[in-house]
Amino acid sequence: MQFHLPADKMPTAWYNALPEMPEPMQPPLHPGTREPVGPDDLAPLFPMALIQQEMSGDIWVDIPGEVIDILRLWRPTPLVRATRLEQALGTPARIYFKDESVSPAGSHKPNTAVPQAFYNKQEGVNRLTTETGAGQWGTALSFATAQYDMECKVYMVRASYNQKPYRKILMETWGGEVVPSPIADPDHPGSLGLAISDAVADAVGRTDTHYALGSVLNHVLLHQTVIGLEAKDQLELAGERTPDVVVGCCGGGSNLGGIALPFMTDPKVRLLAAEPASCPTLTEGTFEYDFGDSAGMTPLMPMYTLGADFVPPSIHAGGLRYHGDSPIISALVKAGRMEAVAYPQGKTFEAAVQFARTEGKLPAPEAGHVLRAVIDEALAAKELDEERVILFSYCGHGFLDLAAYDDFNNGRLIDA
Ligand SMILES: *Cc1c(COP(=O)(O)O)cnc(C)c1O
Repeated sequence: MQFHLPADKMPTAWYNALPEMPEPMQPPLHPGTREPVGPDDLAPLFPMALIQQEMSGDIWVDIPGEVIDILRLWRPTPLVRATRLEQALGTPARIYFKDESVSPAGSHKPNTAVPQAFYNKQEGVNRLTTETGAGQWGTALSFATAQYDMECKVYMVRASYNQKPYRKILMETWGGEVVPSPIADPDHPGSLGLAISDAVADAVGRTDTHYALGSVLNHVLLHQTVIGLEAKDQLELAGERTPDVVVGCCGGGSNLGGIALPFMTDPKVRLLAAEPASCPTLTEGTFEYDFGDSAGMTPLMPMYTLGADFVPPSIHAGGLRYHGDSPIISALVKAGRMEAVAYPQGKTFEAAVQFARTEGKLPAPEAGHVLRAVIDEALAAKELDEERVILFSYCGHGFLDLAAYDDFNNGRLIDA
């Protein structure tokens, strides 16, 4: 029950949602003046090609051939119908997942790491800094910079640095340098906001260095649309017209945006975000301008936020711990175009284990959130005796998250 696109059917352009949003987007604001930021304000951090993509009014943006060459290492990714999960649930729903776990880093993140490294290299920048939480983004960027012979320095949230030694080994194997964050306070468990501050401070302090962000920003969601664009063609191969609902887990919003945005203009398709109850940005945050980092160095973005000084509870195992959310995703939720649901982590691990025992694949804890939402959708369809086509982003595998499964299997995971 796998649907494969031939290599020559890989998308050659990304889909840009900005010109087709239900309501025009509010601009990011300069942290000092609170005026809309211009390209020059962002130039110390990003190459001009990415800044243009951040603000682009074009619906289609060509993918450079040098990027396609590297994406081809694992793309197009399979679309899989989860028939054994369907049978276990006894649902009339048809469940399809886009398997982004087959990438080198084991998640969707290399889809944007590769073009981000490429555009920096093209502008003559040979060193990138970044933050990483669970370690997925740091590994993806370390892989991508290795492809273009660049340096990569990763500021890793200290709690993860201590709990997840294998992610660090993977980053170092690809040539990345990894340090625990916050660097100034060795007793602090860290947060994504603090690690972003460390990485941005490093990049603005050196002329040979730029910064790369793995989620949230418009250009990141743009690059991730290869997921949804391929899925559209593959659903056709599977004999489906359109999905009834498209689901993704949401940390900063990039894999969700990647699978959902290409369906955004079709009003028949429901869009659904799944997030953790311990970091409930879309379901309990407020929509306002807030900083992307804790130190207030980044532009202010219009988004749902829990506050830039939010530090997630350290009991939370499964990523998705950012205080804010992508402005695009936030705007879709605010406009009522996208729904959001939050789950305590015990429920997400139950769903992940059910998927592992039926489909065989071991989900990243983040993917446990989307699986919870997908299983609930399939059970609701059963209740209503309704055919429902569910498409979701299987954002990553959990082979480097086995300690969290060990906690769950042995009743040590706190269900919050
Ligand atoms: C980083 C990551 C996420 C969360 O980030 P988004 O930008 O919301 O996609 C989800 N799943 C996996 C596997 C990740 O690595």
